Amino acid sequence: MSDLDLVIAGGTVVTAADSYAADIGIKDGRIAQIGTGLEGAERIDAAGLLVLPGGIDAHVHLDQPTADGTVMADGFASGTRSAAAGGNTTVLPFVLQIKGQSLRTCVEDYRRKAEGNCHTDVAFHLIVSDPTPQVLGQELPALVRDGYTSFKVFMTYDDLVLNDAQLLDVFEVARRERALVMVHAEGHDAIKHLTRRLEAGGHTAPYYHAEAHAQIAEREATHRAISHAQLIDVPIVIVHVSGREPMEQVQWARARGLKVFAETCPQYITLTAEDLQGLNMDFEGAKYVCSPPPRDADSQAAIWQGLRDGTFDIFSSDHCPFRFEGEASKDNPRARTSFKWVPNGIPGVETRLPILFSEGVGKGRISLQRFVALTSTNPARLYGLYPQKGSIAIGADADLTLWDPQMTRQISQTELNHGCDYTPYEGMEITGWPVRTILRGQTIAMAGNPTGVELGRELSRDVSDVYADSV
Ligand SMILES: [Zn+2]
Repeated sequence: MSDLDLVIAGGTVVTAADSYAADIGIKDGRIAQIGTGLEGAERIDAAGLLVLPGGIDAHVHLDQPTADGTVMADGFASGTRSAAAGGNTTVLPFVLQIKGQSLRTCVEDYRRKAEGNCHTDVAFHLIVSDPTPQVLGQELPALVRDGYTSFKVFMTYDDLVLNDAQLLDVFEVARRERALVMVHAEGHDAIKHLTRRLEAGGHTAPYYHAEAHAQIAEREATHRAISHAQLIDVPIVIVHVSGREPMEQVQWARARGLKVFAETCPQYITLTAEDLQGLNMDFEGAKYVCSPPPRDADSQAAIWQGLRDGTFDIFSSDHCPFRFEGEASKDNPRARTSFKWVPNGIPGVETRLPILFSEGVGKGRISLQRFVALTSTNPARLYGLYPQKGSIAIGADADLTLWDPQMTRQISQTELNHGCDYTPYEGMEITGWPVRTILRGQTIAMAGNPTGVELGRELSRDVSDVYADSV
């Protein structure tokens, strides 16, 4: 019995279903035993700590090319270091199809960028921006068979938007190939209309991004995506739901038995549109510009309700990091002329788990089980990584996060490992932090610092389970 490589001893094991005191025995990178009094070659004392399945962040953008030449602040090395430090063992970044390019070529480019640089495991989603007959008929089906089983489509952004006919085409391919479509639901024409009106009135500060990306436009697009999915009879994920109105559309669909999954993010429970005002309607507000934008206190309350009652399946960061200052940053000459040129996105892969734990579990809004479900187990199930990932069970990968529920400190840019030069959560008081992140039995971060172990592998996924009747 003593052939275990490592024993995590004396902690409280937490899963999406329960919590109990136990030791975890690890052999060859997998969980081999769960019990008491386990012995192994190495021992980690977890007394007083929670032992969670490693965090799975199902929505991160790393090293993505942008239409305007802005450079993302994180590549695979810094992005996954930051993820590991924040208690994550797997992240799901996106392969962006550049219009006119083959999706397969883009996948190979990303795999080259990631290879040998990852501190966590990674699994790619695709972004379909150019659904040509070649892409729909050959490339996507072949990529799904190779394990690239989820793809994001956009209902807005000039360089990414798909029209309704194209959305329906992509949904059809997903249904046929048993893949999962993730939808960025914001109404493009409504946003463009509001943008023109705001600019004509001289309203160009970053704050007006929040007015142009109105909640009504998100609600309308959410309903349209749901209707298209119903027509095709395909499950979809509505990603980064920001407020009460789009959330109600998800509930509307669920009440009718439609298979619509939903994701929300830290910015929608902690920030509001007022943050985009900066200090005095100034450019500081650009630090909070993301799409959809954070809403208001009413929407925050609604999102918390949705996190509690199961409307939301997963809680992801939508980490989309741009530096605030310097070359190719948020603060660039064009962005100074109008909010519409401010790069959309904020960092958050390292702070996702602490924020939800502190604001959710710590303040009695959600249970510990719900926390684990939203941040690890459900993303693993939804995107086809379960049971290898997302749980603490015999045979699963030994991906574990040791968590100190009592540790209190503020979020501070100076302590973060991302490539960004700011955090939108600066100064937030957090109780509950990861103290050790373990990937397949190896420690990849300690006390908020990556250990430099680049063990990360690419994972292939099968999501056909979401098509089963029982899901
Ligand atoms: Zn999006």
